[in-house]
Amino acid sequence: MEKGQITEKKKEDSFGAAERRVRESVERLQLSPAVYEFLKKPLHFAEASIPVKMDHGGVELFTGYRAQHNNVLGPFKGGIRFHPGVTAESVKALSLLMTLKCALVGVPFGGGKGGVTCNSLQLSPGEKERLSRGYIRAFSYLFGPEIDIPAPDLFTDGQVMAWMVDEYYNITRRYLPGMLTGKPVEVGGSVGRKEATSRGCVYVAREAAKLSGITLEGATVVIQGCGNVGGKAAQFFSELGCRVISVCDISGGLYCAEGLAVPDLLGHVQETGLIEGFAGGEKIAGEELLTMECDILVPAAMENQLTAANAPEIKARLVVEAANAPTTPEAEQILSERGIPLVPDILANSGGVTVSYFEWVQNNQGLYWDLETVNQRLEKMMVEAFHTVHRFNREKCPGGTMREAAYGYAVQRLAEAMRLRGWF
Ligand code: GLU
Repeated sequence: MEKGQITEKKKEDSFGAAERRVRESVERLQLSPAVYEFLKKPLHFAEASIPVKMDHGGVELFTGYRAQHNNVLGPFKGGIRFHPGVTAESVKALSLLMTLKCALVGVPFGGGKGGVTCNSLQLSPGEKERLSRGYIRAFSYLFGPEIDIPAPDLFTDGQVMAWMVDEYYNITRRYLPGMLTGKPVEVGGSVGRKEATSRGCVYVAREAAKLSGITLEGATVVIQGCGNVGGKAAQFFSELGCRVISVCDISGGLYCAEGLAVPDLLGHVQETGLIEGFAGGEKIAGEELLTMECDILVPAAMENQLTAANAPEIKARLVVEAANAPTTPEAEQILSERGIPLVPDILANSGGVTVSYFEWVQNNQGLYWDLETVNQRLEKMMVEAFHTVHRFNREKCPGGTMREAAYGYAVQRLAEAMRLRGWF
């Protein structure tokens, strides 16, 4: 029984599917098999033990990783997550998604990912700072604005990036703000970066809604996750006139048929860190939310959330993946058979890395843009990427899903760059 469960879990892994999808794209588009060989695993992978002095006086060893997946289009690029679920395999899989994401949206970066296996909620601010600095000491030799550029991911934020850029300076004695992105504005970050993933996601959701015949004014939206991505997405959807009827986080879910009062809810989350205790809605269990009747469902939390178990019950008219890899391949198959369109992660959440690119450009130029410029450029790139994928779907991938089209387009771009650079 237990064995069966493990096999089932493995079978339902949305990470493993990314590699298979790359192989299928290479075959479908009749590209050189070398393209798959280059993309199936990172070009370089590093693991390190990171000693951290804990508040109790002892030292704890944390395991950290950095996957440099591919740099045919530019420096390796991707976030660092601090999470108990971080493993070598998950970091490698997420680094492939970054390579595809950057190729797809057209930013001149490759893909990478980093992480530390830890429960960041249990770390004091001092411990978190020492872990962040320790991460840079362990991997600084890999980083640089023209080599590999990290950014925030799950449970890392602008403060973590600020400590990291400071530690990089301590080591190199060069203040290079472009060695990572997602910094606070005060230390060389870009305006609009913090909310860029959510803003980008709402831009593509808007385009996808048009194609699905969903009118955004009054449309019902359900969001799994109320952190940096989910919370801001709720704000932007409600600014477009949508009714955000349900959200959830690790403390549970909330429902309000008329639409939650998003600014009040975000104020509460800002203050307490959780949805729990917010009075403006009915309390529901987190799992109920995914199968709720709505126009747009936005998984904005973790991987492997839409599964074969809940996909037959999903009642949304459109799914937009703000998280990385939230849908298992089995669930995707079911949704596709049921005619529920899905905007895949590498398109829907690429707004974050897009504004990371803008931040890096501003750091390199030493010239900073205003919010209007950042948002206009983000909107242009997201809308273009969406329609490019949609066109590719019709022309090169008829009958396929939007994910297949997104992978196909990204892989084709990577293949062309590899060919030109003489990699095969
Ligand atoms: N962690 C984000 C992602 O998964 C942003 C990466 C970046 O800006 O480099 O897309």
